[in-house]
Amino acid sequence: MTDPSSAAPRCLYCERTADEVALIPVHYRDADYFICASHLPILIHRPEQLADYLPGAEGFGPSAEH
Ligand SMILES: [Zn+2]
Repeated sequence: MTDPSSAAPRCLYCERTADEVALIPVHYRDADYFICASHLPILIHRPEQLADYLPGAEGFGPSAEH
């Protein structure tokens, strides 16, 4: 996925580590990701912008229709 030297958790979006920002764990499809507090709103409000990082994220939007 990423190069082996970057084993420390990083924001999936900006790749900053927990040394620089607060990271929030994201469990998705049997994998663990992290996202920083600055980019958490993207995960909530604009998940389609994360589709390059989380395949299928474009479908995270609110389930408007039921
Ligand atoms: Zn970030």
